[in-house]
Amino acid sequence: MSLPYPTRQLYYNGQAHAASSGKTFQTINPATATPLADIQIAAHADIDTAIVAADKAFPEWSNTPPIARARILHKAAALLRERNDEIAKIETLDSGKAFTETSTVDVVTGADVLEYYANFIGGGGLNGETTQLREDAWVYTKKVPLGVCAGIGAWNYPIQIALWKSAACLAAGNTMVYKPSEYTPLHGQTLAEIYTEAGLPAGAFNVINGAGDVGAYLTSHPTIAKVSFTGQVATGMKVAGAAAGSMKYATMELGGKSPLVVCPDADLESAVDGAMMANFYSTGQVCTNGTRVFVPRSMKAAFEKRLLEKIQHVRPGPLFDEATNFGPLSSAIHYEKVVSYIRHGIETDKATLLCGGPEKPVVPKDLQAGFWVQPTVFTDCNDSMRIVKEEIFGPVMSILYYDTVDEAVKRANATELGLAAGVFTKDLNQAHRVIDQLQAGITWVNTWGESPAEMAVGGWKKSGLGVENGRRGIEAWLQNKSTLVDMSGAVVSVFAKL
Ligand code: NDP
Repeated sequence: MSLPYPTRQLYYNGQAHAASSGKTFQTINPATATPLADIQIAAHADIDTAIVAADKAFPEWSNTPPIARARILHKAAALLRERNDEIAKIETLDSGKAFTETSTVDVVTGADVLEYYANFIGGGGLNGETTQLREDAWVYTKKVPLGVCAGIGAWNYPIQIALWKSAACLAAGNTMVYKPSEYTPLHGQTLAEIYTEAGLPAGAFNVINGAGDVGAYLTSHPTIAKVSFTGQVATGMKVAGAAAGSMKYATMELGGKSPLVVCPDADLESAVDGAMMANFYSTGQVCTNGTRVFVPRSMKAAFEKRLLEKIQHVRPGPLFDEATNFGPLSSAIHYEKVVSYIRHGIETDKATLLCGGPEKPVVPKDLQAGFWVQPTVFTDCNDSMRIVKEEIFGPVMSILYYDTVDEAVKRANATELGLAAGVFTKDLNQAHRVIDQLQAGITWVNTWGESPAEMAVGGWKKSGLGVENGRRGIEAWLQNKSTLVDMSGAVVSVFAKL
């Protein structure tokens, strides 16, 4: 049967290569549950070859002056923008996200990060510091790239994750072997081709395909200097453990169960809109989702009424329809997981189902086999319910009522995760006080979800290690060299004759 997209091979040394394993898997369109393309699986020998290619490219790329590197990254960003709709279409088909999202966010926010780091390094951002110690002695520092790095992506923001990792990696002068999630691999080869067209040396960015075992082999390879991983906490712990065992650098962008605190004085419209964005955007498949919505008990009736009104504007449907703003979940396995959480919420946690549920929403006939779920809200939840404690990664909101803001903050922090948090209030002092107390690496005041290139993002506690983006983000791809220069002409020695 001919599939909508040609078979994806591996990409190294500046071109596509057939995998030597002879094995393939299929990537599936989640809206219809039909196959999109065959993907060749990398054998260990192929991964070794891709790593050798990245290692060979490292001296040339790391010695390319930052301003020349910047030019290539700018060109890649321009090509991404030129081909925005074509790539967004790939992302929509592969991940199930509505085209209204992928065409305005996924490629654009990836290209933004490329431009941000191109500007940063082109403007001298990789310069070190000089410290005068004495008249005839000083220390200077250099920011030195690490070498060959591994990038491992999750399936929820495929090309954006690939760009957030590769932009900083390449800007710093490293080379990369990238493995996309097996659920959304289509973008990998397209991105690699764009980098090649932009002028990146062969081998500087390489793509291998496969499941977790391919990722495990890549990330534990002795040539790999750093692992940048986006995925679940449990997988991240394994990957970080393996990286630590061979003293590799590691950045871990993991899961969350983030609190959104609505204060008693909050603007109701903004708070409800914020809670909707924090739970239903991308069908809830966003790591920073604010799935624990803390609402003052006094606001219960008004909040639920407005939420139920606004939830009517969640529109599942054909993914390329301009009105559609809600897609299916990204895979059959993830659909089963999310639906089982919804069932658990109803049957075992005994939470009150305000709307939604485990049944599929109404969609046209040709979409009914897809992995669709309803936006679901549980109310009157308590902190010990499983749906409140565990990351569901789907469109499932839990409303928790509270009596005092201090109580809400304390309960918000009672989790092992610390990815994101936010507050809605009109009181400036209260906003900063609450944000200061919330234990999370990414926080918002009177908004939710925006993550621009300039903003360093990363989780606290078990939600991760290090940050991506912003000025801090590039530091994670560099090592420091400090050099003390002494011009006095004499070495101060303790070994003089007494
Ligand atoms: P997984 O942890 O299941 O997988 C992430 C990636 O790791 C995939 O490419 C996967 O391969 C690969 N992998 C699996 N096992 C290993 C291993 N032993 N060694 C190396 N790589 C391995 O996460 P999901 O794909 O399910 O992504 C969803 C999760 O990602 C959620 O928890 C979400 O919160 C988190 N996330 C965090 C973000 C952040 O910035 N903090 C952003 C986006 C998502 P394969 O899938 O092919 O098996």
